[in-house]
Amino acid sequence: MLDLLLKNGNVYLDGHFTYADIGVKGGRTVFVASPGTYTEAEQTLNLTGQYVIPGAIDTHMHVRDPGHTERGNFYTETLAAAAGGVTTIMEHPISVPPQYNVEILENRIRRAEAQCVVDFCFYGAAGGEFPEEITKLAADGRIVAYKTFLHAAPEGREQEFRGLTMADDGELMAGMRELAKTGLICAFHAEDNDLIQYNIRKMKAEGRTSGRDHALSRPVISEVQSVERVLRFAGETGARVEIAHVSTPQAMELIRQAKRSGLDVYAETCPHYLFLNEDALEKFGPFAKCNPPLRRQELVDQLWEYVVDGTVDYIGSDHSPFLYEEKTKGLKDIFAAVSGFPGVDLRLPLMLNAVKEGKITLERVTELLCENPAKIFGIFPQKGTIRPGADADFAVFNFDHTMTVDKKKNYSHARDIAIPYDGWKLNCQVSYTILRGRILMRDGVVDEGAKAYGQLVCPGRQR
Ligand SMILES: [Zn+2]
Repeated sequence: MLDLLLKNGNVYLDGHFTYADIGVKGGRTVFVASPGTYTEAEQTLNLTGQYVIPGAIDTHMHVRDPGHTERGNFYTETLAAAAGGVTTIMEHPISVPPQYNVEILENRIRRAEAQCVVDFCFYGAAGGEFPEEITKLAADGRIVAYKTFLHAAPEGREQEFRGLTMADDGELMAGMRELAKTGLICAFHAEDNDLIQYNIRKMKAEGRTSGRDHALSRPVISEVQSVERVLRFAGETGARVEIAHVSTPQAMELIRQAKRSGLDVYAETCPHYLFLNEDALEKFGPFAKCNPPLRRQELVDQLWEYVVDGTVDYIGSDHSPFLYEEKTKGLKDIFAAVSGFPGVDLRLPLMLNAVKEGKITLERVTELLCENPAKIFGIFPQKGTIRPGADADFAVFNFDHTMTVDKKKNYSHARDIAIPYDGWKLNCQVSYTILRGRILMRDGVVDEGAKAYGQLVCPGRQR
């Protein structure tokens, strides 16, 4: 007998939607068939009027565990993931310490296994400090990619950025040569730090410390300049690169051209660069502070073109939990606040709302949030697809109901800083999140008993 039968849903199958029933047994999909073919199951969900896509994969998630669990832990932040249709997170290594060697990775995996509600992958840290660890980490086989920053560790956060930075051209060239040997992608936080630090010093001296000054301190050129440098070095070394959280159409254009020239480069953007603009910095100050900063609406509109045309490979939330106090420090001086805010729970709903508004197709959203992350990071077809043999991971939603974003109901420990989208009305409802056949979320209520249900997902395990 089947464990679970999903009946009458409009199901995403290899690029298009079809009415189908899905049978689940032992955590895997065992069949996809015409509605009504099978009827017997331990549990049956009638999904008439609902859409079913592969469980969403968030390519860009931060959990500060261990090191800063006062900002949330693997349990709280993956509850938030489950709330938003996400069944697998890819964790970026800003923690204490970042996973730049196998021992640290092992420790983080153990902590995640003991707490995660959803499945998880890890990025490894790549840096100029421990270049010899880069190939060792890949050989271990458990990371899906690397992450690095192109500047020295920020003052006061040295421990969080250890082994996670390539501080100058020399380190970047040496690091990329190591990365090229691994065949794994490295995600770059691409902003020109020299330019930014100069701007911040100048603005502070002039007493310009408002929300909007944060955006002015990190102008378009600071992203463009840095992206150009990463692409140039990638071309020279053969390293596979991802430009994380691209915020400007100008940088996207460079990436589009690099792709055309045959470079192995991937582009990620985030919901906040598509749904918020610089005005949010004026309105919410530090609560809308992120790096790169929010941009003018004109640039936001142009960025959408690259999302639609295929230049963008996936959309990550860059979910960044912090304490309220770490944000309010920036009310008087924006530069004193930490950068980033939560959003793993809203990535799918925001994109579905965009479908409803006619900005993008549902098929393209499914590629960006589910299929491409699995394919590009080597966890397909275990994840990112609905087919016999794949993990029975699904996000189920409809466009018949609306939802109002309410930060008080957010499962993230950082709910108090989840201000930019608070009160937004979205024309969709994520009704179920299902991971390996287990219903983790139903109508917005997450199964809090699913602690430690999440498992590590490693690249390259074909089925
Ligand atoms: Zn990030």
